[in-house]
Amino acid sequence: MQQTERLSTLQLLDLDRKHLWHPYTSTIDPLPVYPVSHAEGVHIYLEDGTDLIDGMSSWWAAIHGYNHPRLNEALKRQAEQMSHIMFGGFTHRPAVELAQLLLSILPSELNKIFYADSGSVAVEVALKMALQYQQSLGQDKKKHFCTIRSGYHGDTWHAMSVCDPVTGMHGIFSGTLPVQYFLPQPKSRFHGEWDPADISPLRELIETKEHELAALILEPVVQGAGGMYFYHPQYLREARKLCSDAGILLIFDEIATGFGRTGELFAYRHAGVLPDIMCIGKALTGGYMTLSATIATTPVADTICSGEAGCFMHGPTFMGNPMACAVAKESISILLEQPWQNVVKGIESQLDAELASARKLRSVKEVRVLGAIGVLEMNEPVNMARLQKKFVAAGIWVRPFGRLCYLMPPFIIKPDELSRLTYELLNVLKSEE
Ligand SMILES: *Cc1c(COP(=O)(O)O)cnc(C)c1O
Repeated sequence: MQQTERLSTLQLLDLDRKHLWHPYTSTIDPLPVYPVSHAEGVHIYLEDGTDLIDGMSSWWAAIHGYNHPRLNEALKRQAEQMSHIMFGGFTHRPAVELAQLLLSILPSELNKIFYADSGSVAVEVALKMALQYQQSLGQDKKKHFCTIRSGYHGDTWHAMSVCDPVTGMHGIFSGTLPVQYFLPQPKSRFHGEWDPADISPLRELIETKEHELAALILEPVVQGAGGMYFYHPQYLREARKLCSDAGILLIFDEIATGFGRTGELFAYRHAGVLPDIMCIGKALTGGYMTLSATIATTPVADTICSGEAGCFMHGPTFMGNPMACAVAKESISILLEQPWQNVVKGIESQLDAELASARKLRSVKEVRVLGAIGVLEMNEPVNMARLQKKFVAAGIWVRPFGRLCYLMPPFIIKPDELSRLTYELLNVLKSEE
């Protein structure tokens, strides 16, 4: 048998350029990609030896950094037992033990857990649950969703339909997506005063469309990929009441905000109100592999299952993957065993202090920080390729998009490493002025 020879870095980049799609990237004129060889803690190493400090946590996920000995061990241990087994007709310790741990950190009302493959699928599952719930109640007309502008809920079909039609990256599909109702983004900021006028559009929509609405879906408090925006928790409290009164389910998409990122274990805790259905993903496995969950209350689950179908109509092939569940359980344990609240607070104070001077830059419109998330909103869209090249040359990994440059480092980042990240970020932006 012929061994494939190890590719040189140039060959690798050439093959990649000719044959691989990357996220939101052209095949004709692809943005540059950097060949990474390995990663360790908060360091990402490129094939040429370049050492980058990670400011992205691989899109909210790698909260404990890379190549974590305990996560590696959990994965290996499970692989040696059973890497996968169908979840139809079987159950197993990793799935049940992860559920037990999740139940201990979730409000007791949210207790019916559906494991799915990715964040987008968790959102599809949540939306399907809402539709089946309304059907079971005989509310056949309640089949539309509403949400606020600048949201992001994933890239699959119905998930796309509730992303912001402009900033949500799916505007091109607008003619074919199910039509949903979009409300203005609340103007009241997380750290500011609550303006009661912010809730009026939702109240008015419900007054006119109550009988068409199955659910309201929101990213609680922090909108991620649709705008990196932090809004007032009072919006969630008001929305909860309006939805309950009108028989509209409330879905919280905590895929980005879950597991401590905003300073609370889950962002709903800033508001103290519960959704009927909640989606989690991203940091669930500490960034090791794809796994998500959609969690419903017992009344929602039981109503769905007392309907015509007699069950919830969804069952992915890799549902409850044992390796993903085992790693997720270990990742949550690692998080809970440390004073994570202080850790996130420490990152927050440092981001606050060190990003403040960006307000003086002409290109920066606004600086905002919440938990371990630091955002620089620019006046103009950035040139991603050029900026990224400069960031890499400066030894940091930051991936801006649109008008946003932001940091959400792994929680294990040390103060001097975070200082390096903020210093180099500002330095590069200054060089662009
Ligand atoms: C990333 C994200 C999703 C989609 O998750 P994938 O795993 O990329 O499918 C959904 N909702 C929110 C809030 C997200 O941040």
